[in-house]
Amino acid sequence: MKYFSTRGGSQELSFEETVLTGLAPNGGLYIPTSIPTLPQDWQTEWASYSFVDFSVAILSLYISPNEITQEELRVLVEKSYASFRHPDVTPVKKLSDKAFVLELFHGPTFAFKDVALQLLGNLFEFFLLRRNARKAPGERQEKLTVVGATSGDTGSAAIYGLRNKANISIFILHPKGRVSPIQEAQMTTVTDANVHNLAVKATFDDCQDIVKALFSDQAFNTTHRLGAVNSINWARILAQTVYYFLAYFHVRSQLPSSQVELQYVVPTGNFGDVLAGFYAKKMGLPMGKLVVATNENDILARFWKSGKYEKVESSLDGVDGTGPTEPVDGASDGKQATGAGVKETYSPAMDILVSSNFERLLWYLAYESVDVGKGDENVRRKEACEILDGWMSKVKSDGRVEVPVKVLEEARKDFLAERISDEQTLETIKLYHDGTPSYIADPHTAVGLAAARLIAPQNPSTTTQIILSTAHPAKFSEAVTRALPDLDFDVEVLPEEFKGLLKKERRVVDVERPEVNLVKAVIERFAQVEEGGEEGGASG
Ligand SMILES: *Cc1c(COP(=O)(O)O)cnc(C)c1O
Repeated sequence: MKYFSTRGGSQELSFEETVLTGLAPNGGLYIPTSIPTLPQDWQTEWASYSFVDFSVAILSLYISPNEITQEELRVLVEKSYASFRHPDVTPVKKLSDKAFVLELFHGPTFAFKDVALQLLGNLFEFFLLRRNARKAPGERQEKLTVVGATSGDTGSAAIYGLRNKANISIFILHPKGRVSPIQEAQMTTVTDANVHNLAVKATFDDCQDIVKALFSDQAFNTTHRLGAVNSINWARILAQTVYYFLAYFHVRSQLPSSQVELQYVVPTGNFGDVLAGFYAKKMGLPMGKLVVATNENDILARFWKSGKYEKVESSLDGVDGTGPTEPVDGASDGKQATGAGVKETYSPAMDILVSSNFERLLWYLAYESVDVGKGDENVRRKEACEILDGWMSKVKSDGRVEVPVKVLEEARKDFLAERISDEQTLETIKLYHDGTPSYIADPHTAVGLAAARLIAPQNPSTTTQIILSTAHPAKFSEAVTRALPDLDFDVEVLPEEFKGLLKKERRVVDVERPEVNLVKAVIERFAQVEEGGEEGGASG
């Protein structure tokens, strides 16, 4: 299996190169040359699989055995999911015959990103150790500098995925003071020497822009060998397809009739989680339309309404007064404060202006729109890349693109979309807490639950919904306690692991302005320290 960039070029990469590169040099995202189909007997053969078995079976369809053998893959996968607290890794919980929750938060940082990042860390380490083992004595060892931006979860999950891994250092930028206290503590209390937290006085999107700028800086990228852990990394998407399969079997086995159609409902930000569902669907996993559930940062919900993929709505809807106060940004660099772009909501891990992985879906939509009569597969693929490239240039220059009607129709074949307000999010947390069985959802999960409820009345009677639960409620105490003021949070919600976290020693570097050069300087400083073998320590 090979991979190519959504924006074209003749280059085809191995799985290893794809994972180590992250973002393609031309700004595109890597996708497989074809989507593999499932083995004939999967429905019977896979029925009793464990999470690890599913992982090995699915991942090996996308990774050539001469890159990673099934045996090696099994070792990597077992190691990755041993850190999860539940034997099913991603267990399903039944709310009713019509609705199940797929809990993705039983990993080390209590959020769904652990599923992908525990594996990604082990893949990185596996590739580097193998490359370095092949080097002649005295030859320079290959190292990887992982750089990422986080609005909260990616950071801690990436740090836990990469802490203490050989040949890897990790630099995570977060918007200072704009991630939840527990998330900030989770990230900055990891004091392994290869872990560097950068608190940038900026928004998450500024942080993401800096990371993008670093990746497109050829010289810097080559010197430091940058690797991505943002949700654009192909291995993350791949790792996430696994639980769609697990949920399929686990839910069906708990239902009285097999005459059901499953509908996955996915709280969405950068479109990584739900994109994994799209791949599962295209591979042949039976399901209805995937539901894209957004918060008030609803660029995706608007796309499915109008076919316009547009950064900021032309008529800005007002602040509804229920959300957290808009931060006052005293930055003097002329950039507009957050109010004009990303909206701070109760589900901050989904507070995005654009959805980075959406480009991958747009590529498939472009591909479907190419006239099939026009030539062979390669011609069609090339044309899809050109169309996609045109769309992305428009997004870059105008902040928006409108796709043709038939492209929108194609998108509607596989997806539904809903936008959920902060108010609906809190109401939903309360509703499910007060329900039977009582369920305490985090605000991201609540966005999914709310979307599921909105859509349920339009579903055929044979539909059962699976709502993906992306975080433990303890990670987002503000929203949960606001929705459930009478709840004894410390007793009913807070896991043992979080107690005392806020008091632990921290390690973090402050970055005063969202400037690429300031971040480069930090990375260079630590790279030198690491080359010199000294202890690197800046805190404050
Ligand atoms: C990252 C994240 C999401 C959104 O996932 P995407 O893959 O970016 O769509 C939802 N909920 C939580 C808790 C997250 O951390």
